[in-house]
Amino acid sequence: MARVALVTGGTRGIGAAISVALKAAGYKVAANYAGNDEAAAAFTKETGIPTFKWSVAEYDACVAGLAKVEAEVGPVDVLVNNAGITRDAMFHKMTPGQWKEVIDTNLTGLFNMTHPLWGGMRDRKFGRVINISSINGQKGQAGQANYSAAKSGDLGFTKALAQEGARAGITVNAICPGYIGTEMVRAIDEKVLAERIIPQIPVGRLGEPDEIARIVTFLASDDAGFITGSTISANGGQFFV
Ligand code: NDP
Repeated sequence: MARVALVTGGTRGIGAAISVALKAAGYKVAANYAGNDEAAAAFTKETGIPTFKWSVAEYDACVAGLAKVEAEVGPVDVLVNNAGITRDAMFHKMTPGQWKEVIDTNLTGLFNMTHPLWGGMRDRKFGRVINISSINGQKGQAGQANYSAAKSGDLGFTKALAQEGARAGITVNAICPGYIGTEMVRAIDEKVLAERIIPQIPVGRLGEPDEIARIVTFLASDDAGFITGSTISANGGQFFV
């Protein structure tokens, strides 16, 4: 029977590529999103993948949303914690609201989504939790104290949970993408991209969403059963841990 995969923020950008790749690999996929109904409807029309709307930043909404996904699609075997936001500001200008929103979504969101599913994965003796962190969680980035803190926290969460899940057949891994050519990154002024960003990337180009999706598909597979607690960097050589 096909395994069920749930991708948070699975309707746009990297998440959309992950949803599509998992479907192509034979999973029954559900894609969560926060508020952009138009993008979600277009995504379902194009891919046939059902979408479910709630915020990963709210625990009760996650519990209710997950109950709906499990009733309509099936018990979740593979959870991809991909939803993420930025609220950039230099630290002296950063507001408590900008800090909280990013921590609530990018870090607490992982607790909110994984915690309600953990018991089921333990009972079924199988699970894959794949967390999309960031190069900026590894190296830090000026203007992103909130985002860097959250994404770095995702890596600690990954390593701790991997140890707890190991004997129950659950693997927990993280991926740290560098600059990926999503709408958000491609919207950056062409001159800035060409003169300031691309030159920082040794391979000389942006990454593609599909290049992250293929790592997710591998980590979700039975072939990756011995990999847990790992962080896979995919950044074109921009940063080595
Ligand atoms: P996008 O902005 O293109 O898409 C974000 C997705 O997350 C959307 O589907 C959005 O839903 C959803 N989302 C946002 N907030 C919430 C929430 N509170 N609850 C549920 N869903 C939410 O992001 P990217 O594809 O660029 O990034 C995906 C992940 O990869 C993020 O975690 C990001 O930090 C990380 N990353 C991205 C890099 C890049 O270069 N793009 C580099 C390194 C890491 P909606 O459509 O409703 O808004």
